Amino acid sequence: EIAFYENKFVDINEKVVPIQERGHQFGDGIYEVVRVYNGQPFLLEEHLERFQKSADAIELVLPFPKEKITAIIDEGITRSEMKEADVYFQLTRGIAPRQHNYPECPAVFSMTVRKARPISNREKGISVITLEDERWLNCYIKSLNLLPNIIAKQKALKNGHGEAILVREGIVTEGSSSNVFAVKDGKLYTHPATKRILHGITRAKVMQLAKELRIPLVEKEFTTDFLKNADEAFITSTSAEVMPIHTIDDTVLPVDRPISSMLVEEFVKLYHHHAMK
Ligand code: PMP
Repeated sequence: EIAFYENKFVDINEKVVPIQERGHQFGDGIYEVVRVYNGQPFLLEEHLERFQKSADAIELVLPFPKEKITAIIDEGITRSEMKEADVYFQLTRGIAPRQHNYPECPAVFSMTVRKARPISNREKGISVITLEDERWLNCYIKSLNLLPNIIAKQKALKNGHGEAILVREGIVTEGSSSNVFAVKDGKLYTHPATKRILHGITRAKVMQLAKELRIPLVEKEFTTDFLKNADEAFITSTSAEVMPIHTIDDTVLPVDRPISSMLVEEFVKLYHHHAMK
């Protein structure tokens, strides 16, 4: 495992963040997580694009060109000597005396390359609980401020579930760290890419795969009841990939999942193919 802070590679356990770092004191920053398959970062361009969008949304300026991020990530993967890894990178507003308004200092980039977390059994799937979405209204920004997400995830895991599904005013938005899809009568449903959800890279890929497979896609809000009455449901994320849901609160979904299985299979093919290059 390897880490990078500001301008150099460091040991992952080294204490390098100054007390007056904006990320440390305010969570004033943004991040990305990229999956590495067979030594190759998957969908890196898409992640870099979203990173830039998040940065722009909070007026954060990259301290160096985007190409340097790619170079740091590539060097990190090489140094880590890992084939299956998660690359985490973030940008904070920098190091300055604590004050709420933006200081005049360069943003700080940091990164870690860590062993990929094992994913749950896809055949079995996961159970989920629904919880009130208590987050702010700009969830499309991949902000370091994850307190509501962490609290929701903790509640889910403490009660033996794999994910918390967030619900705002009766509408299913997304998971605490994933996007949510439902299948009903052969059609695939997911929340539209508004400010209420993170525009997941995996979500976009799955939507693209659905189009290629000619599965009708409906990007429209749906309720908790709709999700519980779905024929199939699954979450998507960089680390969970495409993960079927078998139970929502006390509602058990059908074991037969033809469309989810097809999308799982195609998604796995996609990164296998990518990793072979
Ligand atoms: N929503 C939230 C709130 C997340 O934290 C994540 C994971 N980063 C996702 C959705 C899934 O996004 P992606 O597919 O880009 O990992």
